[in-house]
Amino acid sequence: MAGKETSETFGRIPTALQHAGKEYRLGSGLVGAVEQSVTFATAAVDDMPVYARLSNTINHKEICALVAALHGSPAAQVFASGMAAVHAVLTTVLQTGDHLLIQENCYGTSQGLAQKILARWGIESTFAPLSEWKRHIKPNTRALFFESISNPFCIPQNFATALEAKKISGAMLICDNTFASPINCRPLQHGVDVVVESATKYLNGHSDLVCGVVACQEDFSQKLAQTAMYVGGFLSAAGCMQLAKGMRTLHVRMRACNENGRAFAARARNLEGVAEVFHGSLMTAESNVFADFGGMVGVRFAPQIDVPMLMRSLKLVSDVPSLGGTETTACIPWWTTNRWMSDAEKRRLEIDGQLVRFSIGLESADDLIADLESSLTASRRN
Ligand code: PLP
Repeated sequence: MAGKETSETFGRIPTALQHAGKEYRLGSGLVGAVEQSVTFATAAVDDMPVYARLSNTINHKEICALVAALHGSPAAQVFASGMAAVHAVLTTVLQTGDHLLIQENCYGTSQGLAQKILARWGIESTFAPLSEWKRHIKPNTRALFFESISNPFCIPQNFATALEAKKISGAMLICDNTFASPINCRPLQHGVDVVVESATKYLNGHSDLVCGVVACQEDFSQKLAQTAMYVGGFLSAAGCMQLAKGMRTLHVRMRACNENGRAFAARARNLEGVAEVFHGSLMTAESNVFADFGGMVGVRFAPQIDVPMLMRSLKLVSDVPSLGGTETTACIPWWTTNRWMSDAEKRRLEIDGQLVRFSIGLESADDLIADLESSLTASRRN
């Protein structure tokens, strides 16, 4: 649904996060109610809710207004998962005979969607690092897909390269902004056409809801709404209500994640047994694109560290494949996010069993580093 308000309507992001999408009327609650009904007796009136799958109840509109305000976009849509959002965007843009250029080393399931589903409908995909995109552009390239901060290495990507490919190809540039969140990166403000986010992660932020969002222009939003109507994949009104509650504290959580991510990355780098640390704060990234780098940190441990034992030894870090919650979590991409790839392919992409993807939460960074330090001692091979 279109979110008519933009960040300009509300001033700065923290203000927009408290007020976008709220409809105060005399006698209305400070917090809205959940529109549980499947259908509504307003079918003849434009823009009124008709049926829940059309995603236009007051709860859906609240999320769309929030997402539009965060990204400064004319419109937004909400979905039942990040993958439902990615699928809806790609199938709205692409048709049989088209070519998709997709960043190599991005979220495994997005790659799988291209290889296992889109390929069946005659849509060809090329996987390549952004630095090589230019030479893979074809006359039928219709969509370019990349992650602002890539999964699983947590590396901020070069927008200038992506934008150059967009200019040469005339294709739609789509950015998965899940790891950055709109607090750290607002891709539409830098020339990207469409932003998708797994709202399951930072936007909701409490590891208790699967959902996805898209921020885009009004005309694309309307096409997306058509796709969503036919395909389904809508988030329930109760889910929207829960997501709104999570989103309203996004800026505060991200501030803590940014600080903790930086502190953890800087200090982990100096620990014995740590070979490499990946975090935007340790690299040169486009400073006009990223405000900060969040809590996603990639750590490659030295060969003498038994990584599965390290994961079992960590007391404050749960070994789970999701991210972006209030608590610190971690996973070994070799066994989880990239499990479906052949071992040879993973090695080619430098994903080995020593790489751990941390999602640093809101704990004290001192405690997290102390936990890592003692777990490193406990998991050193003799
Ligand atoms: N994009 C990225 C970068 C992700 O990490 C994930 C999930 O981990 C998704 C998309 C898919 O999101 P969801 O699990 O909400 O479908």
